[in-house]
Amino acid sequence: MVVYFATHNQNKVKEIAKLLPEGMELRSLDELNLHEEIPETSDTIEGNSLMKTQYVFDKHRVACFGDDTGLEVQALKGKPGVYSARYAGPQKNSHDNMDLLLSKLGSFDERSARFKTVITYINAEGSVHQFTGIAKGSITREKSGQEGFGYDPIFQPEGYDITFAEMSADEKNQISHRAKAFQQLVNFLSEQ
Ligand code: IMP
Repeated sequence: MVVYFATHNQNKVKEIAKLLPEGMELRSLDELNLHEEIPETSDTIEGNSLMKTQYVFDKHRVACFGDDTGLEVQALKGKPGVYSARYAGPQKNSHDNMDLLLSKLGSFDERSARFKTVITYINAEGSVHQFTGIAKGSITREKSGQEGFGYDPIFQPEGYDITFAEMSADEKNQISHRAKAFQQLVNFLSEQ
């Protein structure tokens, strides 16, 4: 089956492409000639995930999925959450975002955090399904590692002493929030 991924983020496409089961073909928005920015103005992760996917479906009426992710930091009452991309401002710069988060946490010992991904799938008939994946961990005191993207250099997943940015893509894929949510989508599709 052919499924379109409602994102312009090539990092996400690369991550998901590695998890595809046999028989599932991933197509990008380029193949729909959809180049404009996709709106994500909801104040929840679930809402943004739906908004992105619904936007693609409404324009093209194809089976598609989209994801939205937020980093929820316990000591900051769940922030930056749905505002993770723009935490330090509209420039959406990962290093600015990480610097701001590290400065807000200062020398706090309570540094637990989790990534939450919600994937929305809309089938060719327009039925909507959502899947949630969580990766628990903590915020380090400084950045470490070059792999991945976003907050990866300051996120240490539970049970590891390295950050996501120090892992290979395959290693991150075994435990990441997005991989967990995507696996649920794949299971759902295989039961259809
Ligand atoms: P998005 O809206 O799903 O693109 O995610 C919002 C923001 O969360 C991104 O701009 C990144 O800063 C961050 N983010 C999402 N996924 C990841 C990840 O796997 N690792 C690190 N940061 C991420």
